[in-house]
Amino acid sequence: MRRRPNRGVLIALEGIDGSGKSTLQRRLVRRWRNRTWTVATRREPSDPDLGRLAQQLAPKDPWASAMVFTLDRLIARPKLDTALAEHDVVLTDRTFYSTLAYQGSAVPAGVAARMHRLQRGVTVVPDRVVLLHLSPDEALKRVGARGRGRAPLERRRTLSRVDRAYRRLALEHRWLVVDGSRPAEFVAAEVDSALAPWIERRRARARPGR
Ligand code: ADP
Repeated sequence: MRRRPNRGVLIALEGIDGSGKSTLQRRLVRRWRNRTWTVATRREPSDPDLGRLAQQLAPKDPWASAMVFTLDRLIARPKLDTALAEHDVVLTDRTFYSTLAYQGSAVPAGVAARMHRLQRGVTVVPDRVVLLHLSPDEALKRVGARGRGRAPLERRRTLSRVDRAYRRLALEHRWLVVDGSRPAEFVAAEVDSALAPWIERRRARARPGR
């Protein structure tokens, strides 16, 4: 997970299902392209079939599920490296931190630590992470039918556990935490003003003369 010089920055959006990540991604891309930055987008899981398999495994076998998500990440790595080499910014909807929040919070701490270590060499650590915070109740209201496959109570319990895990990760890694309950354009404006000056400095340093 070593950082290479002269590459674009990797910005990650994290948060529970329905917190507004893909909405924020679309709005940030618009704002950042208006700044004349080159921006690539991606999401995890990259392969829908592997994603489905990982999601099916998650309730009964979080370790196996985490390994399928990790395999997906490994397969997607060359494309991520290319995107970083060719753009100022790569904006990703989810990273390995999602695996740590969802599956890592369902296993004992030692197993979660191993899950984390396994990400080394597989993927790239994002330069900045934005946690979109929204209560599980609000998120469930927003996604409605997307909670298919699990009983509502079970789903709510899972999201609460994942929400706690995300908040711990945010503290530990100093993520930018934003309140996802406000109108989407407010959220995008807050993230833009928090990150844009930093990205601009990094961009000037990485690609002098541009
Ligand atoms: P995620 O990608 O985190 O699962 P989405 O961006 O798909 O979440 O948003 C889930 C639902 O909530 C969508 O119907 C979206 O239009 C809506 N939504 C997203 N952000 C907001 C917001 N700030 N306020 C109200 N509704 C929102």
